[in-house]
Amino acid sequence: MGTMDSGSYVGGTDVSKKEATEMREKFYQFMMGRNGVDELARMHSWLVLVLLILGIFTRLGIFSVLALVLLVYMYFRVFSRNTSKRYEENQKYLNFKYNRTVSWNRFKKRMAQRRDYRFYKCPMCKQEVRVPKGHGKIEITCPKCREQFIRRS
Ligand SMILES: [Zn+2]
Repeated sequence: MGTMDSGSYVGGTDVSKKEATEMREKFYQFMMGRNGVDELARMHSWLVLVLLILGIFTRLGIFSVLALVLLVYMYFRVFSRNTSKRYEENQKYLNFKYNRTVSWNRFKKRMAQRRDYRFYKCPMCKQEVRVPKGHGKIEITCPKCREQFIRRS
């Protein structure tokens, strides 16, 4: 006890480190009450990158213009003080992303089962019904609304 730990004051007089800390502090102050980088902003930055690459490969100016517009919009959102509106936009994006994943997974599942099953939509409630292939004409009972309809399996 009482012995000085040499590691405790390392960097204490390092000017550049102090400046970096101040910069970070200033930035933190600046970002207070602002939206910051959310998932939507992250997606926008990826899109900007894609547009820039497309611009390079196609040599079409429109992609660079779109990238710039999107970049400005992205920063507008990141620095925006209307955080509830930005939160709403981000939620919409997350919902969209979720739904896309769900329908993609459903599509993949159906592709895997395509050989053995047929898929029909119930004429009453639009519920999707799966029936095994190769049984000729069959009467299908909708599992949801009990509607009966005849289809070729
Ligand atoms: Zn039905």
